[in-house]
Amino acid sequence: MNIRTFSTLPLLILLAACKPAADAPPAPVAVQTPAAITPAKPQVLVANYPLQYFAQRIAGDAVEVRFLAPKDEDPAFWQPDEAAVTAFQNADIILMNGAGYSKWADKVTLPESKVADTSAAFAKSLIQVNEVSTHSHGPGGEHSHSGTAFTTWIDFKQASLQAQAVRNALQALLPDSKDALETNFDGLKDDLDELDRRMSDLSRRLVKQPLVASHPVYHYLARRYGMNVRSVLWEPENVPDDKAMTDLTTILSGHRARWMIWEGEPVEESVAKIAAVGLKSVIFDPCGNVPESGDFITVMKANVEALEKAFP
Ligand SMILES: [Zn+2]
Repeated sequence: MNIRTFSTLPLLILLAACKPAADAPPAPVAVQTPAAITPAKPQVLVANYPLQYFAQRIAGDAVEVRFLAPKDEDPAFWQPDEAAVTAFQNADIILMNGAGYSKWADKVTLPESKVADTSAAFAKSLIQVNEVSTHSHGPGGEHSHSGTAFTTWIDFKQASLQAQAVRNALQALLPDSKDALETNFDGLKDDLDELDRRMSDLSRRLVKQPLVASHPVYHYLARRYGMNVRSVLWEPENVPDDKAMTDLTTILSGHRARWMIWEGEPVEESVAKIAAVGLKSVIFDPCGNVPESGDFITVMKANVEALEKAFP
Protein backbone atom coordinates (compact mmCIF):
# COMPACT_ATOMS: atom_id res chain seq x y z
CA MET A 1 0.00 0.00 0.00
CA ASN A 2 1.31 3.42 -0.83
CA ILE A 3 0.40 6.86 0.49
CA ARG A 4 -2.09 7.57 -2.29
CA THR A 5 -4.29 4.52 -1.65
CA PHE A 6 -3.97 5.04 2.09
CA SER A 7 -5.51 8.51 1.79
CA THR A 8 -8.89 7.05 0.71
CA LEU A 9 -9.34 5.25 4.04
CA PRO A 10 -10.59 8.19 6.14
CA LEU A 11 -13.21 8.81 3.45
CA LEU A 12 -14.55 5.24 3.72
CA ILE A 13 -14.76 5.51 7.48
CA LEU A 14 -16.55 8.85 7.15
CA LEU A 15 -19.13 7.37 4.74
CA ALA A 16 -19.76 4.44 7.05
CA ALA A 17 -20.25 6.81 9.99
CA CYS A 18 -22.86 8.84 8.05
CA LYS A 19 -25.18 5.89 7.44
CA PRO A 20 -28.29 5.67 9.61
CA ALA A 21 -27.62 3.37 12.54
CA ALA A 22 -30.70 1.14 11.92
CA ASP A 23 -29.62 -0.50 8.64
CA ALA A 24 -25.86 0.03 9.10
CA PRO A 25 -23.64 -2.96 8.31
CA PRO A 26 -21.03 -3.91 10.91
CA ALA A 27 -18.39 -1.17 11.09
CA PRO A 28 -15.34 -2.00 8.95
CA VAL A 29 -12.26 -3.03 10.87
CA ALA A 30 -9.05 -1.33 9.84
CA VAL A 31 -6.72 -3.80 8.18
CA GLN A 32 -3.04 -3.20 8.64
CA THR A 33 -0.75 -4.04 5.75
CA PRO A 34 2.45 -5.59 7.12
CA ALA A 35 5.25 -3.15 6.42
CA ALA A 36 7.55 -6.02 5.52
CA ILE A 37 5.39 -6.91 2.52
CA THR A 38 4.61 -3.44 1.15
CA PRO A 39 6.56 -0.42 2.31
CA ALA A 40 4.34 2.49 3.35
CA LYS A 41 6.63 5.22 2.07
CA PRO A 42 7.74 5.81 -1.53
CA GLN A 43 11.16 4.27 -2.09
CA VAL A 44 13.96 6.51 -3.36
CA LEU A 45 17.08 4.56 -4.35
CA VAL A 46 20.32 6.49 -4.75
CA ALA A 47 23.67 5.86 -6.43
CA ASN A 48 25.90 7.60 -3.89
CA TYR A 49 26.00 9.44 -0.58
CA PRO A 50 25.73 13.00 -1.94
CA LEU A 51 22.42 12.06 -3.58
CA GLN A 52 21.25 10.36 -0.38
CA TYR A 53 21.99 13.56 1.53
CA PHE A 54 20.26 15.78 -1.06
CA ALA A 55 17.14 13.56 -1.15
CA GLN A 56 16.88 13.38 2.65
CA ARG A 57 17.43 17.10 3.02
CA ILE A 58 14.71 17.91 0.47
CA ALA A 59 12.10 15.22 1.27
CA GLY A 60 12.71 14.62 4.98
CA ASP A 61 10.57 11.73 6.24
CA ALA A 62 8.12 11.79 3.34
CA VAL A 63 10.10 9.13 1.47
CA GLU A 64 12.44 6.31 2.38
CA VAL A 65 15.87 7.08 0.91
CA ARG A 66 17.95 3.94 0.44
CA PHE A 67 21.69 3.91 -0.32
CA LEU A 68 22.74 0.27 -0.60
CA ALA A 69 26.50 0.35 -1.28
CA PRO A 70 28.57 -0.86 1.70
CA LYS A 71 30.47 1.75 3.71
CA ASP A 72 33.91 0.43 2.77
CA GLU A 73 33.41 0.50 -1.01
CA ASP A 74 33.57 3.23 -3.60
CA PRO A 75 29.93 3.38 -4.78
CA ALA A 76 31.15 4.23 -8.30
CA PHE A 77 32.77 0.79 -8.67
CA TRP A 78 30.38 -1.19 -6.42
CA GLN A 79 28.68 -4.31 -7.83
CA PRO A 80 25.15 -4.63 -6.38
CA ASP A 81 23.93 -8.18 -5.73
CA GLU A 82 20.64 -9.48 -7.13
CA ALA A 83 18.59 -8.25 -4.16
CA ALA A 84 20.01 -4.74 -4.50
CA VAL A 85 19.31 -4.67 -8.25
CA THR A 86 15.71 -5.76 -7.54
CA ALA A 87 15.37 -2.96 -4.97
CA PHE A 88 16.50 -0.45 -7.62
CA GLN A 89 14.06 -1.92 -10.17
CA ASN A 90 11.14 -1.64 -7.71
CA ALA A 91 11.95 1.91 -6.56
CA ASP A 92 9.58 4.85 -7.03
CA ILE A 93 12.55 7.04 -7.98
CA ILE A 94 16.11 6.05 -8.91
CA LEU A 95 18.56 8.92 -8.42
CA MET A 96 21.66 8.31 -10.52
CA ASN A 97 24.79 10.44 -10.54
CA GLY A 98 25.30 10.19 -14.30
CA ALA A 99 28.76 11.01 -15.73
CA GLY A 100 29.57 7.29 -16.04
CA TYR A 101 29.16 6.66 -12.29
CA SER A 102 27.56 3.33 -11.20
CA LYS A 103 29.40 1.10 -13.68
CA TRP A 104 26.90 -1.67 -12.76
CA ALA A 105 23.97 0.18 -14.30
CA ASP A 106 25.20 -0.59 -17.85
CA LYS A 107 24.63 -4.28 -17.26
CA VAL A 108 21.09 -4.26 -15.84
CA THR A 109 17.72 -2.95 -17.01
CA LEU A 110 16.27 -0.17 -14.89
CA PRO A 111 12.74 1.23 -15.44
CA GLU A 112 13.55 4.33 -17.52
CA SER A 113 10.58 6.38 -16.31
CA LYS A 114 11.85 6.10 -12.72
CA VAL A 115 15.45 7.09 -13.40
CA ALA A 116 16.69 10.67 -12.85
CA ASP A 117 20.17 11.38 -14.22
CA THR A 118 21.13 14.17 -11.85
CA SER A 119 24.04 15.45 -13.94
CA ALA A 120 22.01 15.68 -17.18
CA ALA A 121 21.87 19.50 -16.91
CA PHE A 122 25.63 19.73 -17.44
CA ALA A 123 26.14 16.60 -19.56
CA LYS A 124 27.78 18.68 -22.31
CA SER A 125 30.57 19.92 -20.04
CA LEU A 126 31.63 16.63 -18.46
CA ILE A 127 35.38 16.00 -18.45
CA GLN A 128 36.94 13.07 -20.33
CA VAL A 129 39.98 11.44 -18.71
CA ASN A 130 42.75 9.46 -20.34
CA GLU A 131 44.13 7.30 -17.54
CA VAL A 132 45.55 4.02 -18.77
CA SER A 133 46.75 2.32 -15.59
CA THR A 134 44.41 0.29 -13.40
CA HIS A 135 44.49 -0.10 -9.64
CA SER A 136 42.17 -1.14 -6.85
CA HIS A 137 40.77 0.29 -3.67
CA GLY A 138 38.50 -1.74 -1.42
CA PRO A 139 36.85 -5.01 -2.42
CA GLY A 140 35.64 -3.78 -5.84
CA GLY A 141 38.65 -5.18 -7.75
CA GLU A 142 40.81 -3.50 -10.38
CA HIS A 143 39.54 -0.38 -12.07
CA SER A 144 40.71 2.53 -14.15
CA HIS A 145 39.68 6.18 -13.97
CA SER A 146 39.66 6.39 -17.77
CA GLY A 147 36.51 7.76 -19.41
CA THR A 148 34.22 10.38 -17.94
CA ALA A 149 35.33 12.01 -14.67
CA PHE A 150 32.48 11.35 -12.25
CA THR A 151 33.18 13.23 -8.99
CA THR A 152 30.82 15.90 -10.27
CA TRP A 153 29.54 17.33 -6.95
CA ILE A 154 32.80 18.89 -5.73
CA ASP A 155 32.14 21.66 -8.23
CA PHE A 156 29.48 23.15 -5.94
CA LYS A 157 27.65 24.79 -8.84
CA GLN A 158 27.24 21.32 -10.36
CA ALA A 159 26.21 19.96 -6.93
CA SER A 160 23.47 22.57 -6.89
CA LEU A 161 22.23 21.45 -10.33
CA GLN A 162 22.21 17.85 -9.11
CA ALA A 163 20.20 18.88 -6.05
CA GLN A 164 17.80 20.65 -8.42
CA ALA A 165 17.32 17.41 -10.40
CA VAL A 166 16.62 15.60 -7.10
CA ARG A 167 14.03 18.27 -6.21
CA ASN A 168 12.35 17.93 -9.62
CA ALA A 169 12.06 14.15 -9.29
CA LEU A 170 10.65 14.44 -5.75
CA GLN A 171 8.14 17.12 -6.79
CA ALA A 172 6.89 14.88 -9.61
CA LEU A 173 6.47 12.03 -7.11
CA LEU A 174 4.84 14.15 -4.37
CA PRO A 175 2.95 16.95 -6.19
CA ASP A 176 0.95 17.84 -3.06
CA SER A 177 4.19 18.68 -1.20
CA LYS A 178 5.63 20.85 -3.95
CA ASP A 179 6.06 23.96 -1.77
CA ALA A 180 7.63 22.16 1.18
CA LEU A 181 10.09 20.41 -1.15
CA GLU A 182 10.93 23.77 -2.72
CA THR A 183 11.61 25.36 0.69
CA ASN A 184 13.89 22.51 1.74
CA PHE A 185 15.72 22.66 -1.59
CA ASP A 186 16.24 26.42 -1.14
CA GLY A 187 17.97 25.78 2.20
CA LEU A 188 20.25 23.17 0.64
CA LYS A 189 21.01 25.45 -2.31
CA ASP A 190 21.99 28.25 0.09
CA ASP A 191 24.52 25.93 1.75
CA LEU A 192 25.96 24.84 -1.61
CA ASP A 193 26.11 28.44 -2.86
CA GLU A 194 28.02 29.43 0.30
CA LEU A 195 30.58 26.65 -0.33
CA ASP A 196 30.87 27.80 -3.94
CA ARG A 197 31.41 31.42 -2.84
CA ARG A 198 34.17 30.44 -0.38
CA MET A 199 35.93 28.29 -2.97
CA SER A 200 35.64 31.05 -5.56
CA ASP A 201 37.28 33.48 -3.10
CA LEU A 202 40.02 30.93 -2.50
CA SER A 203 40.58 30.36 -6.20
CA ARG A 204 42.25 33.77 -6.50
CA ARG A 205 45.02 32.41 -4.26
CA LEU A 206 44.91 28.83 -5.56
CA VAL A 207 45.20 29.73 -9.21
CA LYS A 208 48.94 30.25 -9.03
CA GLN A 209 49.66 27.09 -7.06
CA PRO A 210 50.67 23.79 -8.64
CA LEU A 211 49.10 20.97 -6.57
CA VAL A 212 49.42 17.20 -6.50
CA ALA A 213 46.40 14.97 -5.79
CA SER A 214 46.76 11.51 -4.26
CA HIS A 215 44.00 10.19 -6.54
CA PRO A 216 42.50 11.40 -9.86
CA VAL A 217 39.14 12.58 -8.48
CA TYR A 218 39.48 16.37 -8.41
CA HIS A 219 38.89 17.31 -12.08
CA TYR A 220 35.71 19.33 -11.51
CA LEU A 221 37.03 21.03 -8.36
CA ALA A 222 40.15 22.03 -10.29
CA ARG A 223 38.20 23.27 -13.31
CA ARG A 224 35.68 25.42 -11.44
CA TYR A 225 38.12 26.92 -8.94
CA GLY A 226 41.10 27.32 -11.25
CA MET A 227 43.38 24.81 -9.56
CA ASN A 228 46.46 23.38 -11.28
CA VAL A 229 46.33 19.70 -10.19
CA ARG A 230 48.33 16.65 -11.28
CA SER A 231 47.49 13.24 -9.84
CA VAL A 232 49.17 10.08 -8.65
CA LEU A 233 47.21 6.87 -7.84
CA TRP A 234 47.69 6.56 -4.09
CA GLU A 235 45.45 5.59 -1.19
CA PRO A 236 45.49 7.39 2.17
CA GLU A 237 45.93 4.09 4.05
CA ASN A 238 48.91 2.86 1.99
CA VAL A 239 52.49 4.06 2.37
CA PRO A 240 53.98 4.94 -1.06
CA ASP A 241 56.67 2.47 -2.19
CA ASP A 242 59.80 3.37 -4.21
CA LYS A 243 57.98 3.28 -7.54
CA ALA A 244 55.21 5.53 -6.20
CA MET A 245 57.83 7.98 -4.93
CA THR A 246 59.59 7.96 -8.32
CA ASP A 247 56.26 8.72 -10.05
CA LEU A 248 55.78 11.60 -7.65
CA THR A 249 59.23 13.11 -8.05
CA THR A 250 58.87 12.86 -11.84
CA ILE A 251 55.70 14.96 -11.61
CA LEU A 252 57.35 17.40 -9.17
CA SER A 253 60.32 18.01 -11.49
CA GLY A 254 58.05 19.89 -13.90
CA HIS A 255 55.26 20.84 -11.51
CA ARG A 256 56.61 22.48 -8.37
CA ALA A 257 53.81 21.66 -5.97
CA ARG A 258 54.07 22.31 -2.23
CA TRP A 259 50.84 20.55 -1.25
CA MET A 260 49.32 17.11 -1.83
CA ILE A 261 45.53 16.79 -1.61
CA TRP A 262 44.34 13.54 0.00
CA GLU A 263 40.85 11.95 -0.04
CA GLY A 264 41.21 10.98 3.60
CA GLU A 265 43.66 11.20 6.52
CA PRO A 266 47.00 9.79 5.24
CA VAL A 267 49.10 7.50 7.47
CA GLU A 268 51.96 9.26 9.28
CA GLU A 269 54.65 7.45 7.30
CA SER A 270 53.22 8.78 4.02
CA VAL A 271 53.12 12.30 5.40
CA ALA A 272 56.80 11.97 6.40
CA LYS A 273 57.79 10.53 3.01
CA ILE A 274 56.22 13.34 1.00
CA ALA A 275 57.51 15.94 3.47
CA ALA A 276 61.00 14.73 2.55
CA VAL A 277 60.35 15.83 -1.06
CA GLY A 278 58.90 19.17 0.07
CA LEU A 279 55.17 18.41 0.11
CA LYS A 280 52.67 19.19 2.85
CA SER A 281 49.37 17.31 3.20
CA VAL A 282 45.84 18.69 3.03
CA ILE A 283 42.61 16.66 3.06
CA PHE A 284 39.69 17.24 0.71
CA ASP A 285 37.28 14.32 1.17
CA PRO A 286 35.02 13.90 -1.93
CA CYS A 287 32.55 12.10 0.35
CA GLY A 288 31.11 9.69 -2.24
CA ASN A 289 30.22 7.34 0.62
CA VAL A 290 28.73 8.01 4.07
CA PRO A 291 31.23 9.96 6.24
CA GLU A 292 32.41 8.57 9.58
CA SER A 293 31.03 11.66 11.28
CA GLY A 294 29.02 14.69 10.24
CA ASP A 295 27.21 14.94 6.93
CA PHE A 296 27.81 16.12 3.37
CA ILE A 297 27.79 19.81 4.25
CA THR A 298 29.99 19.56 7.37
CA VAL A 299 32.54 17.45 5.47
CA MET A 300 32.61 19.93 2.58
CA LYS A 301 32.96 22.85 5.01
CA ALA A 302 35.94 21.08 6.63
CA ASN A 303 37.45 20.53 3.16
CA VAL A 304 37.11 24.20 2.24
CA GLU A 305 38.44 25.27 5.64
CA ALA A 306 41.51 23.05 5.22
CA LEU A 307 42.28 24.69 1.88
CA GLU A 308 41.67 28.16 3.34
CA LYS A 309 44.22 27.37 6.07
CA ALA A 310 46.73 25.98 3.58
CA PHE A 311 46.41 29.04 1.32
CA PRO A 312 45.83 31.99 3.69
ZN1 LIG B 1 40.68 4.69 -8.06
